[in-house]
Amino acid sequence: MDAGGFVGELNLLTGQNVYLLCRVREGGTVYRVPPERLRQLMANDVELSDVVFKALIARRELLQRSTAALAVEIVGTDRSAAALALRTYAARQRLIHQWFDADTPADQAMMESSGLAAEDLPAVVMPGVTMRQATPGGLAEKLGLSYRRSSVKPVDVTIVGAGPAGLAAAVYGASEGLDTVLLDAVATGGLAAASSRIENYLGFPFGLSGADLTDLTGLAGRGSDVSLVVRGPDIAAEMSAYLVDRLLVHPRVTVRCRSEVTRLDGGDFLEEVTITDRTADTAHAQPCAGLFCFIGAEPAASWLTGIATGDDGFIRTDVQLTDSDLGPAWATLGRRPLPFETSIPGVFAVGDVHSGSMKRVAAATGEGASAIASVHKAIAALA
Ligand SMILES: Cc1cc2nc3c(=O)[nH]c(=O)nc-3n(C[C@H](O)[C@H](O)[C@H](O)COP(=O)(O)OP(=O)(O)OC[C@H]3O[C@@H](n4cnc5c(N)ncnc54)[C@H](O)[C@@H]3O)c2cc1C
Repeated sequence: MDAGGFVGELNLLTGQNVYLLCRVREGGTVYRVPPERLRQLMANDVELSDVVFKALIARRELLQRSTAALAVEIVGTDRSAAALALRTYAARQRLIHQWFDADTPADQAMMESSGLAAEDLPAVVMPGVTMRQATPGGLAEKLGLSYRRSSVKPVDVTIVGAGPAGLAAAVYGASEGLDTVLLDAVATGGLAAASSRIENYLGFPFGLSGADLTDLTGLAGRGSDVSLVVRGPDIAAEMSAYLVDRLLVHPRVTVRCRSEVTRLDGGDFLEEVTITDRTADTAHAQPCAGLFCFIGAEPAASWLTGIATGDDGFIRTDVQLTDSDLGPAWATLGRRPLPFETSIPGVFAVGDVHSGSMKRVAAATGEGASAIASVHKAIAALA
């Protein structure tokens, strides 16, 4: 490193383990800036923040293509759900890692050299540590990414879910001075991170791309034949136009409308599916190594016991609530639910889980940001 330069990597901002070592060429003074102080500096100086942030992003991209990517090695088989969970976690956390497929002879050699057997998979190999039957939680723990709150002081707002809605709420909550905690069962990004591309988000004329792990056309692009089975008469009714266009023109994707998957067969893994054509009322079995279900959207709200939902399980808020939804706690508070407030005082629902929501990124972020105004009012009413 030369005089006047600065070192550091993106994990200074994310709190992940440090991957970068540095050597100075000439004697001099090194100023050590702790992460909290750096974040403070970046918040106060926009110009400096731009320079530092761009450099950190560029370094992360460089690292992902360099030998540093060998720091975390994930070994498993392509068809294992546990391995997929680990890879999804690593991808969504933007962890620098390498994937080894235990079904390929080349990667089996790596397994043997690490002393791993089939029953150890999925495994994570890091310098000095081998994690057998690894889970996202275990990996997070080892990397120091698990959440540990040091203070015992209650937070102002806890946000469950770091999809677009939760992220927007967290950004607005924290920037408006609320002590904010954002939790997610997997990692940041939500459904948007599982989509190959988010279209129709203002300000991004070419769309925003996410991870392509679950992208069907990505699968077909890697040489697999893909059948898209649809119960309805055509795919255009419920799907974004850009996805329909990509699917219909893809030479390896066959769209089967008015059809249903009626049977699955296999041993340890899926080997065959039976597809029933409802027009001709015929069934045929075809070899199949993977099945992706995109059947409707189910709200992940069952853990919120006692909350008012619609018949479809999506959470009702504010004007969607009737007097009979509001228990005695509301009478004590002496107020009606605020915008985005649920039937439980102080609990707000935004984004896809919200009854009647648009199921769009822009709507989810808008709701997340707007709900923070209600959080301020609810806190003020408690004072
Ligand atoms: C394939 C696909 C393509 C799409 N294309 C577009 C598009 O082009 N344009 C567009 O505008 N929208 C698109 N969408 C819709 C868009 O992705 C969603 O509307 C948006 O992601 C909703 O954001 P959200 O934050 O409400 O929920 P989600 O994105 O679903 O995020 C919810 C988060 O909560 C976490 N979570 C759930 N339960 C718990 C729990 N109990 N504890 C902790 N964490 C939990 C999940 O892990 C997840 O990260 C697409 C969706 C899909 C699936």
